[in-house]
Amino acid sequence: MVIHNKLIIIGSGPAGLTSSIYPARGGIEPLIISGNEPGGKLMYTTEVENFLGFDQPILGHTLIEKMRKQAKRFGSRFVNKAISSADFSSKPFRVKCSCLNDNLNKEEYFADSSFYKINRRFLALSFVTYLNRAISFI
Ligand SMILES: Cc1cc2nc3c(=O)[nH]c(=O)nc-3n(C[C@H](O)[C@H](O)[C@H](O)COP(=O)(O)OP(=O)(O)OC[C@H]3O[C@@H](n4cnc5c(N)ncnc54)[C@H](O)[C@@H]3O)c2cc1C
Repeated sequence: MVIHNKLIIIGSGPAGLTSSIYPARGGIEPLIISGNEPGGKLMYTTEVENFLGFDQPILGHTLIEKMRKQAKRFGSRFVNKAISSADFSSKPFRVKCSCLNDNLNKEEYFADSSFYKINRRFLALSFVTYLNRAISFI
């Protein structure tokens, strides 16, 4: 199955969720592909004390849940799948997914090329070798 989107965000950690807010508020309805670690690394920790805006420590999973809710409120959509391959060499960009725990159920996602011409800076990629680093295409 091939699914077309204006914007695909790979990874649902703080970088992916943060990058979804502006385009979602702009009506782009980004598709966030969560990967094998929905919520990212902060899901594994207890108290986070250095996050601006919280005058008290907040549990990692609670912080991520707040980020998720904020992203959803503006229209971000989530799929619990991992990317198995990606092609950013030509437009539309395309990524292939397999359902978690179901390698037979493969889906291909396309991202709208014209959107990237204007708004490429909104693409955040925390993917394979880029884990823990948000990459922006400007
Ligand atoms: C135990 C622990 C405690 C920490 N405590 C703090 C703290 O107190 N304060 C602080 O500032 N930082 C803390 N950190 C660091 C913080 O968690 C990271 O800086 C932050 O999570 C990085 O965010 P990220 O979105 O770039 O990457 P990550 O959180 O690593 O998210 C990566 C995302 O990419 C997805 N992904 C990976 N491969 C694929 C794929 N093939 N297809 C689709 N998606 C994919 C994953 O599923 C995940 O959702 C802690 C980290 C750990 C491990």
